[in-house]
Amino acid sequence: MSRTDVKEEILRLREELTRHNYLYYVKDTPVISDKEFDDMLSHLSALEREHPEYDDPTSPTRRVGGEVTRDFATVVHRTRMYSLDNTYSREEIADFDARIRRELGDEEVEYVLELKYDGASISLTYENGRLLRAETRGDGVQGDDITANARTIRSIPLTLTGDYPAIFDIRGEVILPIEEFEKINTQREIEGETLYANPRNLASGSLKLQDSSEVARRHLDCLLYYVVEDAVTIPTQYGCLEKAREWGFKVPPYSVVAHSLEEVYEYIRHWDTARHSLPYQTDGIVIKVNSKSQQARLGYTAKSPRWAVAYKFSPERESTILESISYQVGRTGAITPVANLNPAVALGGTMVRRASLHNADQIARLDIRVGDTVYVEKGGEIIPKIVGVDTSRRAEDSMPTRYITHCPECGAELVRIDGEALHYCPNDTHCPPQIKGRIEHFASRKAMDIESLGEQNVRALVEAGLVESYVDLYTLTYEKLNGLTIDVSSEGKKRSFQKRSAERLLEAIEESKKVPFERVLFAIGIRYVGDTTARKIARYFTSMDSLMKATREELLMVDEVGEKIADSIISYFADERHIDEIDRLKTHGVQMEIKSGVMSVKSDVLGGKSYVVSGKFSISRDELKELIEKYGGRNVSSVSASTDYLIAGEAMGPAKARKAESLGIKVISENEFMDMISAGKEIDSAMIETADEDISPTVETIKQDVKKDTGEQQLSLF
Ligand code: AMP
Ligand code: ZN
Repeated sequence: MSRTDVKEEILRLREELTRHNYLYYVKDTPVISDKEFDDMLSHLSALEREHPEYDDPTSPTRRVGGEVTRDFATVVHRTRMYSLDNTYSREEIADFDARIRRELGDEEVEYVLELKYDGASISLTYENGRLLRAETRGDGVQGDDITANARTIRSIPLTLTGDYPAIFDIRGEVILPIEEFEKINTQREIEGETLYANPRNLASGSLKLQDSSEVARRHLDCLLYYVVEDAVTIPTQYGCLEKAREWGFKVPPYSVVAHSLEEVYEYIRHWDTARHSLPYQTDGIVIKVNSKSQQARLGYTAKSPRWAVAYKFSPERESTILESISYQVGRTGAITPVANLNPAVALGGTMVRRASLHNADQIARLDIRVGDTVYVEKGGEIIPKIVGVDTSRRAEDSMPTRYITHCPECGAELVRIDGEALHYCPNDTHCPPQIKGRIEHFASRKAMDIESLGEQNVRALVEAGLVESYVDLYTLTYEKLNGLTIDVSSEGKKRSFQKRSAERLLEAIEESKKVPFERVLFAIGIRYVGDTTARKIARYFTSMDSLMKATREELLMVDEVGEKIADSIISYFADERHIDEIDRLKTHGVQMEIKSGVMSVKSDVLGGKSYVVSGKFSISRDELKELIEKYGGRNVSSVSASTDYLIAGEAMGPAKARKAESLGIKVISENEFMDMISAGKEIDSAMIETADEDISPTVETIKQDVKKDTGEQQLSLF
């Protein structure tokens, strides 16, 4: 291809991809398949890599992130970002309306009613139709420059269409859809991490992540509501919303123009319940004077516009009776107290019968007692919770709640680890919910992937006494399974295990013996060891035997293993019963080490040497670490005498450099590292005489590999 052809092809692909991105993420009406989109995108990436001279920060390839921001620069907003006055009642809205009419000398007034999206505010500046900068609100006068992160939000256009002003600012809310929020929390739960409280905090936290590819994986969305007027000559707020939509922004379609207070109240009535079927959270509505010239006459207070006001939906709170407290036992033995409410209360469009009581401290702090009239709220948080007690209605003979001391399922005495809020049942081998939970976890998709072993089947197997530990799965036979009965509903409906399903289950169990060691390590359910951590540990130690012998110090050398995880691993292996389980798994043929065959899928050019990465690189640090693993090196988190190489990026801390130097560790640059990989690869393939494919990668194809890998990881994560 000639140079002009290349340039044209790049421009054509960018335009196509921008259009499809818009159709998918803004209009929600994709016209091509995900695969076609991905293929086009990798084609463009490849061309851009070969021709860095056509680099463009608004290219759709930038959506996947990669840029790392250490310190977000503080920037002064081109125009001040105001907040909104809040109202909570019809009376306050009527006062607002009366004031507006008075100040405008009884002119006709139209209001625009919008939903108040619950996320983090953002200001975007566009110059000549291209995203120039994105800023957080900060204190309203100045905020943080988060442009690299904003580019990864698919619904923020990087380039505009139509008759946009030469330069202008537009403001909106970055939100995390509820579904994405729940996926992230589910993943955290699997990994034994604490859960995020609500989508709003997670959205604003995400904007400040250093690694933009991490932001890209969060699937944030951006809803726009305000075009800053200076540069714009559209006479109404409603007109601005329509224009912004034409330029390519995502502007929700729910705004309306209202002419009377009655219409405002009607909008509130409607959305107070209808909002619960939206894919994102809203915490109120915003009432804005429609006419820009009226807005200008009304002006601003020190904090907020005089021409707008928010009405906040009251956090839904209902009172009911706390009938009883039950205690749930999780897979790891963690005890969660749950409030059983009677009568059930309607909150957020659902009937709530149970609510969270968090832990023993929370119950004591609020002095919650069985029989109390309690307040239940479903605010920004997803799970309803008890927020207080109406003590005036407490029965005279009521008694303070005594938190349980023994496991409700197995009777073992509960323990409470210092510094942790939860109680645990320590009887991990004989406590039924722990047994079932561990088997379910063992069989789950990211672990041993034993497909037909869902909750019902696990319960049936455990209750029939056929399995007590996941190891027992490997002793199941057709005879044992045949005719087994399974409860399919709480109403006592039963079915029996059919021949076909028995065979399928046995096949799936047999298949699971091929599952690689890193997933076995995740499957055995060591507390705090999630699938990513398990993979890193497995690649570092390569076998269960050497992991079992590892000291705390050695464990801490593994990338991403901190003290909490290291201690948890040590205490896991200190337990004879666990050693016994592992021995039995091994006897049944479950993978207990990384097979050399599996390793060689990756290259071994880095020869198992250990690497520390530090500073900024042209690719993200995660990508660099992936490369190290992929080419047979090991990532370690800190420099010590046994480190082989320190890969020094831009702005690496001087302390690290000095330490490396004093220990005689080789310090290499990103380029030198890339050369090592490609040079090593050439030697590798030259030595394999039958090399029938060209496997010597260039630095560019290596980077491309990584991009693809992270893409897949993203899919399997969410
Ligand atoms: P508050 O944070 O309670 O003072 O509310 C003001 C914030 O609400 C603004 O800074 C925006 O980030 C946010 N907001 C959400 N939806 C809208 C909307 N439709 N119009 C104006 N502001 C909104
Ligand atoms: Zn128990």
